[in-house]
Amino acid sequence: MGDDTLREECGVFGVMGHKEASALTALGLHALQHRGQEASGIVSCEQHNGFFYSHRATGHVGDIFSKHDVIRRLKGTMAVGHNRYSTTGASGLHNVQPLFSELSFGGLALAHNGNLTNALSLRRELVSKGSLFQSTSDTEVIVHLIAASEAKALEDKIVDALTRVVGAYSLVLMTSDTLVGVRDPYGVRPLALGRLDEAWLLASESCAFDIIGGTHVRDVMPGEMVVVDKAGKMRSFYPFSRVAPRFCLFEYIYFSRPDSFVEGRSVYDMRKKIGEQLAFEDGDDVGDIVVPVPDSGLASAIGYAQASSLPFEMGIVRNHYVGRTFIEPMERIRHFGVRLKHNAHRAALADKRVILIDDSLVRGTTSRKIVGMVRGAGAKEVHLRVSSPPVRHSCFYGIDTPDEKDLLATQNKEKDIAKIIGADSVRFISLEGLYRALHKPNGEHKQGGQGEKHGFCDACFSGVYPIACPDRDKLKKGEPPLLSAMSHVENVE
Ligand code: SF4
Repeated sequence: MGDDTLREECGVFGVMGHKEASALTALGLHALQHRGQEASGIVSCEQHNGFFYSHRATGHVGDIFSKHDVIRRLKGTMAVGHNRYSTTGASGLHNVQPLFSELSFGGLALAHNGNLTNALSLRRELVSKGSLFQSTSDTEVIVHLIAASEAKALEDKIVDALTRVVGAYSLVLMTSDTLVGVRDPYGVRPLALGRLDEAWLLASESCAFDIIGGTHVRDVMPGEMVVVDKAGKMRSFYPFSRVAPRFCLFEYIYFSRPDSFVEGRSVYDMRKKIGEQLAFEDGDDVGDIVVPVPDSGLASAIGYAQASSLPFEMGIVRNHYVGRTFIEPMERIRHFGVRLKHNAHRAALADKRVILIDDSLVRGTTSRKIVGMVRGAGAKEVHLRVSSPPVRHSCFYGIDTPDEKDLLATQNKEKDIAKIIGADSVRFISLEGLYRALHKPNGEHKQGGQGEKHGFCDACFSGVYPIACPDRDKLKKGEPPLLSAMSHVENVE
């Protein structure tokens, strides 16, 4: 990862029983664009004849699916879509999802959000038995395991396959007459169930239902499989051994859109409560004004300002029209990157002690530029407050994080980080405080604790990994690289 943020890997969407299935999926993917900006794809299906149609490309959803002709060719009343940001597997078109395969029972489209922690071991095993892989994506392992299952019913084949995999997954699968949604037993990644008229919908976040006028029925629960058949009947069951859920804490802090409801809670409300807790941990007289780093720090800054009774000021203005395509090829202006995206607002900042709110601090390079910019606009003091605890460990469950050695908080304490980024002070919310904020009913502060007790994954903060990471452990023990069975193939068309 070259830049200074954590990146969500994927967003998924599915629809069953609507004559505009592919258009709805394109809109749903547009609402989920924040979860992956590298590539998108839709596979649709006409139920009456079992024909599948697929379009996958690199780029943004608006560029790939804005042409009427593309949507018109994606016929059918069922569709599955996917937004990708890759970490496992290279970024070629062959890795763009939904993956589509022809299996013994017919076509299967599969979209995956998450990361399998034993995918490379399984891949090596499957290849040694003759499986022919078409991609380098961890998701393809699931397809091969489904293909190899001797179970008769589709649901049983999927359960067979998923019983072999370890890691985090929220999946949407589609055959010519069935739509399936399933979450791993720990429920690390979100998956929501919705309706639009008679149609059933599945999406990574509820904001994807809002854009098409759908209703968020509920979340698919950890370890639950929902199956919608050709008659439009939905069944639900729990095929895996029950474990305590461990939803990703970062979904509330950063990844999910603020207008989404995940795990029954408003992301916006949670971020405000986190900001309130930050203010509570800060105590009195830190600064004069509260300024968010837009857009990521907005909701927490509102919570901080309300709890501290300090003025909330838009001291940094974000330019929404700066694209990667503009910045990246122009090497000479790369160092202006932050100024292209953000500009400090001198009238709001001059002579003020600024409490700057951001959601995370990864390598610190962006924070250093933003703090410098706020000072340059005349701020008397700059105090950075971060609405996540220090990120000290890598994520293996679907979020792209730098190596631990590159995480600023792994090597440095708050006062050292302040020196490095040029701030007067830096403070992260405590992990206990974060749990208090997430569990706070009606302004009360509950006693905090660790991830297991609270039903969350907090591994990137605590280093306690709730799900085994077999591939990483094998490498640590000195086994040969698991990638040795994978060739590098580039699409040069
Ligand atoms: S390690 Fe961090 S980013 Fe990854 S799933 Fe756990 S809480 Fe989320």
